This record gives sequence, structure tokens and C-alpha cells, in this order.
Amino acid sequence: MGEKSLSRGVGLLFESAPQMKLLVIGSGGREHALVWKLAQSPHVTRMWCAPGNAGIAAERLQRDGVQVECVPIGAEDLEKLLEFARKEKPDLVVVGPDNPLALGIVDVFQLSGFRIWGPTQKAAQFESSKVFSQQFMERHGIPTARGGTFADALAAKNFASSLSGRCVVKADGLALGKGVLICDSVAEAHRAVDEILVGKLFGTAGTRVVIQEFLEGIEISLHALCDGRTAKLFPTSQDHKRAHDGDQGPNTGGMGTYSPAPFLTNGQLAQVGHSILDPWLKGCSAEGIDFRGILYPGVMLTKDGPRVLEFNARFGDPEAQVYLTRLENDLVELLNASVDGTLSKQELRWSAHASICVVMASGGYPGSYPKGKVISGLREVSQMPNTKVFHAGTAPSGEDVVTSGGRVLGVTSWGADLASARAAAYRAVEQVRFEGAQYRRDIAGKALA
Ligand code: AMP
Repeated sequence: MGEKSLSRGVGLLFESAPQMKLLVIGSGGREHALVWKLAQSPHVTRMWCAPGNAGIAAERLQRDGVQVECVPIGAEDLEKLLEFARKEKPDLVVVGPDNPLALGIVDVFQLSGFRIWGPTQKAAQFESSKVFSQQFMERHGIPTARGGTFADALAAKNFASSLSGRCVVKADGLALGKGVLICDSVAEAHRAVDEILVGKLFGTAGTRVVIQEFLEGIEISLHALCDGRTAKLFPTSQDHKRAHDGDQGPNTGGMGTYSPAPFLTNGQLAQVGHSILDPWLKGCSAEGIDFRGILYPGVMLTKDGPRVLEFNARFGDPEAQVYLTRLENDLVELLNASVDGTLSKQELRWSAHASICVVMASGGYPGSYPKGKVISGLREVSQMPNTKVFHAGTAPSGEDVVTSGGRVLGVTSWGADLASARAAAYRAVEQVRFEGAQYRRDIAGKALA
């Protein structure tokens, strides 16, 4: 096809695609990846992000080059978000983070007649209550760790003792990813129970706890896009939760990820997916839970088979960054199908390449850290092929981009194989500078060992 007729073809495609205005909620790397991917859709004529970040504010719609607009409304300020939606009338609202989902943003927007993508408050309980999830898994035969749920400290301690203290004590509610204490002895487990249930270390999130046996194995992230009846499984990915190389240091929101993870063949992945998603879908149907959004089980591949450690009810961050750089479908069409209950008609298509995301964080993260450090090198990296820097904790400051959060950037590269993707990502990381920057040097190390 000549260049002219090709561009006419693309023009026709853009003209015939139904037009949509989108409002994306959130401000992290996951939301930047969502905005970046959604902006590629010919359906999108306007996009807002509340509150967004410096990287999101620089994105443009591929259709016509119109800039994405950041709106200074917090992701948890449901009242103001609704007021904004009433004014601008988005055709679809896309929710990134867990907190607004747990607050019931989907129910609130639906009641006001908006189309919104994400699970309702009831469905989001899979993430907002570990007690709910553990009991649901037990009721419906979903493979998980042997565990128990407790509000009473004495009963919790007795159960921990029965596991010889080799256990994991988890606060029931959302605790910024910090509510999980891994214990190696009875004394440690009893202390963990006291800290959460009695000392209220995590406030009301720790009114109840889940205690699970400690499982050994390889941990992977699974994701499935759901529409209430159908769950479409994604390829594997693997996160790196600890702050430092060699899985040392404190737990973080995630310091890097890659996809695919080479620990399962496609056949094994399908099997693992069935063993979790089939009983999960059946259970949802039996209990009247209409889950539309992303179900993200954290899974341990043990010598006795896969075990679900927990469920999340949204895209992982930074898993979204690697998945969305591999996804070939139009994301707007997939999210529409998820909202409308027509996912069975969609086929997810993934590029054969590998993707990796290396998170650059502020010095001191996950503890306290400074803000406002000027970031350099972003322009140079934007010229690199097969690389995209997703912003997380960044803000514009005059002509500069400065740090404004713990996780600052997700430097993401893709390539024919994991080794070349990884080399590209670290080349890009070397170009980006801000005072105190910390990152892991061993992302995807386990896969390449
Ligand atoms: P969660 O928020 O439940 O995924 O737990 C956070 C992290 O704690 C997980 O990513 C695992 O590395 C670890 N973890 C959670 N549950 C267990 C378990 N039963 N056995 C071993 N490690 C666990």
C-alpha cells in the first residue's frame, strides 16, 4: 500500500471508531501506563486524569495530538470526582488504585449513571478484606495456604503456635502494602498478633487478622480481566517487593517487574489459571458477586502446586507497566467489554517480546524520603527505542520535573528476549538522575540465572 492510501486507511479507521471521552483516576506508574495505552486508541477524543502526574500531563492522544489533561482532584475525593464527571460527562471512567475501589467509587458513579470500569465495593472486598478472601477461598476450594481468620488474640496465637510460628500474620484491611508480617518462631508470631490486634499497628485495618502457614516456592503475579462471567488470563509476570538487591530490606510497593516469567510453560499457566479462576468464578456466581475489572492473584508455586497468597482487585503496579507494553489489543475495547459483560467475544493478544520495568525510587523509600529533587535525563531517554519511562511520584516545577513520591519512575523497556530488554532498561536508568535515587540492579535476575 502506498503511503497516501495507508494514511487514508488510518484516517478512515479513526473516523469510523466510536468516539469516547475518558476520565482516569489515580496518579502512579500504573495510571501513567493506563493513560499511555488508552491514548493510543482511535476511540479516545479527550482524556482527563485525576490527579495524574508530570508524565501523564505530557501524554497526547494518538488520534489528534490533543494533550491529556490532569485535574487536581485526589483519587479518594469521590464527591469532587463526581462533580467533575457531572460537568465533563466522560463516556468511561477508569479506576487505577485500590483505595477508591474499596471506598465504593464504582457504586457511587454507577448510581449517578456513569459507565465506570472497576469492581464494585462488594467485589473489591477480594482486596480490601484478607479475611473475606481467605474464607471465600476456603468455601470454594481455591488452592491457598492453610490458614485461619481471627479477631481474638488468644485464638490467633494458638493457631500460630500450631504452625510452630512459621507463619505469616496479615492485617485484614488495606495497609499500604505493609500489613503483612512474616514470622519464623512462636515468639515472633505472638508478637505480630499483639502488634496488629492489640497494639493496633495498622489501626482499624487490623481489627481482624489472617494467619497463613509460611509457604516456600517461586512467587509470581497473575492477572485476569473479568466481566462478571468470564475471566481472561494474562501471561505471567514477577514483581520484586523488597527494597534491595537479593530480596533484602523492607517490603515496598514493588521495585520492578518483568513479563513473561519463565517458571511456567503456557500449558502450565493455563492449568494454574483454571485451578484458581474456575472455582473463583463459580464462587462469585454463587455469592452474587459481579466482578468487572482486573483480578490479580499473588501466587506461590510450591512443590505441592500453586497456592494463592492474596487477591488484589486492580492492576499491579508495576505489573501494569510490563503488561500494557506487551498488550496488542485496543485497551478501550477491552475495558468496554469488561464493563458490558462481552469479554467472551474478545481475544487478548500479546506481543512475543519480553518487557521489564525498573523502578527508580527516592532515597530512603519505603521509609521517609525528600521530595522536590530535580530529575534530569528524561529527554534523552525519550529518544531511546523500545523504552518508555512511566512516571509515578513526579510533579512539574516550572520547566523541570521533580520528585514528589517514594516510587518516582518506572523505566520500562521491551525486546526480543528478556536479556536484551533488561540491558535496554538499565541503559536508560543510567541516563536518568536525581539526588538520592535508588533502584535494584537485579530485576529479572531470577529469570536469567
Ligand atoms: P500479600 O500482601 O498477602 O501478598 O503478602 C505480601 C508478601 O508477603 C507476598 O508478596 C509474599 O512475598 C509474602 N507472603 C504472603 N503470604 C505468604 C505465605 N503464606 N507464605 C510465604 N510468604 C507469604
